[in-house]
Amino acid sequence: MNLSNLPGHPHLAYRGNELFLEDVALSALAKQHGTPLYVYSKGAMLAALQSYQRGFSGRNTQICYAVKANSSLSVIQVFAQAGCGFDIVSGGEIERVLAAGGQADRIIFSGVGKTRSEMRRALDVGIGCFNVESEAELEVLNEVASAMGVRAPVSIRVNPNVDPKTHPYISTGLKSSKFGIPHEQVLPTYQRAAALNGLRVIGIDCHIGSQITQEAPYLEAVERMIDLVQAIEAVGIPIQHIDFGGGLGINYNGETPPDAEQLWKKLLAGLDARGFGQRRLMIEPGRSLVGNAGVCLSEVLYLKPGAQKNFCIIDAAMNDLPRPAMYQAYHQIVPLQSRSATPVTWDVVGPVCESGDWIGHDRALAVQAGDLLAVLSAGAFCMSMASNYNARGRASEVLVTGAQAHLIRQRETIADQMRQEKLL
Ligand SMILES: *Cc1c(COP(=O)(O)O)cnc(C)c1O
Repeated sequence: MNLSNLPGHPHLAYRGNELFLEDVALSALAKQHGTPLYVYSKGAMLAALQSYQRGFSGRNTQICYAVKANSSLSVIQVFAQAGCGFDIVSGGEIERVLAAGGQADRIIFSGVGKTRSEMRRALDVGIGCFNVESEAELEVLNEVASAMGVRAPVSIRVNPNVDPKTHPYISTGLKSSKFGIPHEQVLPTYQRAAALNGLRVIGIDCHIGSQITQEAPYLEAVERMIDLVQAIEAVGIPIQHIDFGGGLGINYNGETPPDAEQLWKKLLAGLDARGFGQRRLMIEPGRSLVGNAGVCLSEVLYLKPGAQKNFCIIDAAMNDLPRPAMYQAYHQIVPLQSRSATPVTWDVVGPVCESGDWIGHDRALAVQAGDLLAVLSAGAFCMSMASNYNARGRASEVLVTGAQAHLIRQRETIADQMRQEKLL
């Protein structure tokens, strides 16, 4: 086993045959807290944030962590303490941000289906901006704000029709997508918004997709956004901030996404060239801040060699780690304590009664029942998508910093799961 750091995972490394996250041996955490167990590195989260901060240094920017990537309270708290704002997509996420110490005026509210009660709550607490996704939503937000006697700060999410060249389920900036306002309707929509007394137009935003591994789609989106800002301002509607969304990818399986600092230096050069480099800029990164900061630890329950396939059955499943089943996603799987035995090819699967319940296909691993494994790149869109399918309780979570480990979520019990239910 390679004793050096794992590529793309600078806070994860073997020391001897033991896998460490920062200065904590992961097998010790698995033994103490049981499995499946999510473990996050605070250092890795802050390092990812700092790459963006360096890219933006000297500029008027707000980095808004996209909460849906990982909405655990302590994860939100780490970013709140580091000065981040938050991109949220539901009333539940507003409450999580506030409970974790986030500032309301640094919250931006995205999503195509905001309800009236979510709008009222967001206005009550004084969020920074509504990223409005349709004309119908604009009218409803105007009504809600007017009834409360306030003006809702709005940005309109535009669909720049840029192909992010990623998985179709996470492409959001194409014409066929449910997100945003089509390019050609942007101007009339801004004119309508500017005419409504319950609204205050402050910005423009886009978000073209997720797990983007090339810089070209961003360069294209920046140009199209500036074209739009110029057109909107030409009709007398000032745009205070431009929000470019999130979407930057991570290394799951050898991908080489641009580094955040380098990407933003390049995009800022483009903005400078067009005279927009000093405008207030916002971004909404999610995955790239937390994805490679987290691992999911799991125990090998059974080995089931077969004529066609060998199955390695582990105690984490699609309810804990939904990305393989949902997007055919790849997550690297490595042992917590490496063995010198010859690896065998296994399909690593969970206990859930679905053929879609796999974690990794055709993985070369030297394992025995009782061994502990780490599923890598599990910080984003894993715990936040976890469910109780098969009446499985959601995993517990630990956050490490240096040699310290903090339990940040207890394992969900059967009583927790049944609490809201009633027998006839
Ligand atoms: C999901 C989402 C993000 C974050 O995307 P990542 O790919 O995780 O960076 C940002 N903005 C909006 C509107 C989103 O829906």
